[in-house]
Amino acid sequence: MATLRFLGACGTVTGSKFLLEANSCRILVDCGVFQGSSELREKNWSAPPFDTQSLDAVILTHAHIDHTGYLPRLGKAGFSGPVYVTPPTAGLLGYLLPDAAHLYEEDARYANRKGFSRHRPALPFFDAKDATAALTLLRPVEFRERAELAPGLTFEFRRVGHILGAAFVTVHADSRQIVFSGDVGQRNVPILKDPETPESADYLLLESTYGDRLHPEGSPREELGRAVAETVARRGVVLIPAFAVGRAQEVLYHLRSLQRDGTVPVDLPIYLDSPMAVSAVDLYCSALAEHDLEMEQLQNAGLCPIEGPSVHLVRDRDESIALNGRRGPMVIVSASGMLSGGRILHHLKRRLPDPETTLLFVGFQAAGTLGRRILGGAHEVRIHGESVPVRAEIREIPALSAHADQHGLIEWANALTTPPRVVYLVHGEPPAREALAAAIRSKFGWKVAAPREGEAVELE
Ligand SMILES: [Zn+2]
Repeated sequence: MATLRFLGACGTVTGSKFLLEANSCRILVDCGVFQGSSELREKNWSAPPFDTQSLDAVILTHAHIDHTGYLPRLGKAGFSGPVYVTPPTAGLLGYLLPDAAHLYEEDARYANRKGFSRHRPALPFFDAKDATAALTLLRPVEFRERAELAPGLTFEFRRVGHILGAAFVTVHADSRQIVFSGDVGQRNVPILKDPETPESADYLLLESTYGDRLHPEGSPREELGRAVAETVARRGVVLIPAFAVGRAQEVLYHLRSLQRDGTVPVDLPIYLDSPMAVSAVDLYCSALAEHDLEMEQLQNAGLCPIEGPSVHLVRDRDESIALNGRRGPMVIVSASGMLSGGRILHHLKRRLPDPETTLLFVGFQAAGTLGRRILGGAHEVRIHGESVPVRAEIREIPALSAHADQHGLIEWANALTTPPRVVYLVHGEPPAREALAAAIRSKFGWKVAAPREGEAVELE
């Protein structure tokens, strides 16, 4: 008998945590934080509903903080590893966890200085020391290598697109196969290999972020080109909030290619303003085994934006602040992707009131986030306790998202040669989950469940 407990990402797209008990082993698959509304974020502070010291291992599908950000807290609570990851995920986490710690510390300091936090004093969710300690627990396992957790209990990582290092995980518990999809990427992304697919699963946990949406036809690259060109024509600033890992690099890749074909002026200044995104650029450029393109093509294509003459990689805080004084036209790519923190907030305060600005969304905006409120048409928003009018042009390119749409998810599941006993839909808001459940039932006739947070199921 095996038991699976859903501890996050149920009816929401963050906080992925699934506790699997099998073969006398307790394994946590993904260890993410909740992001979005304050109600969701508040949940991060409550103790996990299991004894952290009795946990045998953690397996992480990919580096995004909503799948990994709870790890430093778990370490603080006494968990001593191992944490299994793919080698590129280990590389990304080496930047991502300390960066998250830095942001938490910075936000806490800022909140204390300005006095806008409800918590006095505001404390960071974890600090640099906790992040460093968590990194010592990582145990890289190659893609497609079968690793043993306990007698009769093994697992395997396979590529799933989405971001560098991202995997879906198949756990083999005796004769049962439990597949955790992680976040399923789109096909034909230039800087990542296409997602692989599972051949069989007795139980499938499937993400459903875009379960109710189809990405529009047409080239996202061309759409990006149009948005930038129109803003440049009015000498405005294109502000692109992007997840520091994955989205930011893909956006830069497209911008560089648009410069080469003349859609975007070759001397248009492009600022990548996020220390984490800048570090991830190096990792993307060096992880050649993960790209579809050959090394030479990569260099010719100018994939490493470091080599782009008008691309400025901004690590330094003062340099970031100096951007406030610059006039357009220019492009600023900055994190976080859902406007939940980071340097993008300072740019928004400066640029949102300006009708010449284009705020361009290229990733999913979760309910409760500032990004969702602006995308929903808010005329005024609060940033760092200040009221900011929204006069900028707001645009979205959903096809640039790191997530497969409903069609992509159905296609991915369609690779299974035999029906799973149950498909558990996770990592999606209720309308997305319901739409995907209906689509899977009608196309395959499979049993689909939408687990509640805290729910436990027996896997026979
Ligand atoms: Zn992700």
